[in-house]
Amino acid sequence: MRKTLLVANWKMNKSYADLEPYVSALVEQGIPKHIDLALAPPFPFLDKLRQSLKSSSIHLAAQNAHWESKGAYTGEVSFGILKELGVEFVILGHSERRQYFGESDAIVAKKVKACVDNKLTAIACVGESLEERKAERTFSVIEKQIHAVMEPLNSSENLVIAYEPIWAIGTGVTASANQAQEVHAFIRTLLAKHFASSESIRILYGGSMNASNSKELLQQADIDGGLVGGASLDAQSFLGIINNS
Ligand code: PEP
Repeated sequence: MRKTLLVANWKMNKSYADLEPYVSALVEQGIPKHIDLALAPPFPFLDKLRQSLKSSSIHLAAQNAHWESKGAYTGEVSFGILKELGVEFVILGHSERRQYFGESDAIVAKKVKACVDNKLTAIACVGESLEERKAERTFSVIEKQIHAVMEPLNSSENLVIAYEPIWAIGTGVTASANQAQEVHAFIRTLLAKHFASSESIRILYGGSMNASNSKELLQQADIDGGLVGGASLDAQSFLGIINNS
């Protein structure tokens, strides 16, 4: 049985003053026991957020990291540094990193391997563009991305996959539950080719998930949670998703 995982990806949003009220709103409502919840703030807020989350079951996540453990990499952050800050999950290969910061499949694969080697849980993002979907290349794109991530790994531990169709991210257009389930089921068959134990790997859906569409998406057999951008910025709208899960 895979436990539902919901991850808030704040991207480059929110401010220091928002942290306490946001966490208080979540904690006051109480996080249902059947859900794992993680918040991924911008790097500078990690330490403060860790303090705010101390007496709660909510996990800390980061939005990126460098694959090297230390060195002359100005502006970068290592998995070791994130670990010191109490981070447990790291989002890697988000389509915005791929699109705006030139992260190739090879770079994403190196990051995922380093993350897992550091015993942090990688949330490895994959997803096709609108053009690729229209050209019926969704499955070949996903296969290539998944293969790149899985190939260097020795086990299925500390790995979460997020299927995020690029055309659904931040657009208000969500994949239908059927469209998402179809790709999630495909990803599961790909994972099974790599590891016998792949059934335990959680596959999250991401792309304009909100309180109105999350229930149907999360009811699908191979959708094990959500990576939520826009709808996670406001505690009440994120709570809407949590309460629907
Ligand atoms: C994301 O960026 O991971 C994401 C899913 O964003 P949104 O929910 O805003 O589409």
